[in-house]
Amino acid sequence: MHFQNLDHPKPQFYDWSGDSFYWITKAQWEDKIAHAYTSRVSKDLKDYETRGEGDSLEIKWVVCEHTFDWEDYRHVRALLNHYYTLHDALHDKLNTYGITLLWDFDRYVSLCDFSELRLFLIELRKKGMAYEDILDEMRARYAIEYSPNYLVSIVSKEVPKKIAQVAKMLRLEQDTPPEQRKKCIHCGRSLPMDLLFFSKNNAHKDKLSNTCKECDRESRIKRGVINGNGDLRKKDPTLH
Ligand SMILES: [Zn+2]
Repeated sequence: MHFQNLDHPKPQFYDWSGDSFYWITKAQWEDKIAHAYTSRVSKDLKDYETRGEGDSLEIKWVVCEHTFDWEDYRHVRALLNHYYTLHDALHDKLNTYGITLLWDFDRYVSLCDFSELRLFLIELRKKGMAYEDILDEMRARYAIEYSPNYLVSIVSKEVPKKIAQVAKMLRLEQDTPPEQRKKCIHCGRSLPMDLLFFSKNNAHKDKLSNTCKECDRESRIKRGVINGNGDLRKKDPTLH
């Protein structure tokens, strides 16, 4: 099965159901990198795992590793839009790249701290439900009326952007060296010096707040400024 990412400037096909890697000869590898559409595919043989030597040298070609980016919300959106089709085709093919993407998608969703209503929308969308039917379900279950445009913007922008942001935060949390971290004076965690983790504060030399965003949020909830889902109380006291 092939799946076209419509957002990409060039038509681009992913072989979702292929094995996660395969071995190719040097000539095949040279052909592949010559035709790679993205600069993110390394042209340096040192970046690849190899086996054998001389004429029998083979290179490990990881399928799609360079073509799906969790930090690009358009990729995440495409995955959500095709979740159902992929799940249907791949649920019993556990060694495929496509199925690990679906697992990762669910894992990221669980880390996003989405509200109950957002999780409900995501589940329906994962099942391939059309927008009008989702609106009906929301009406029936939560007595909430969204405009179709608002629903589309949640599913196609807000949710994928949040997932892409969490993916980036996880990477930064893992990869940032100690000298590029800052300790939150409230919780004591040493976090990357990045606006994803600390709010801007020009009073400080590093232009970042001394408390992390998570602690800021908790203190706002305690003071009653926002509800537990991070929205302003007066704006919406319900489920968002
Ligand atoms: Zn903190």
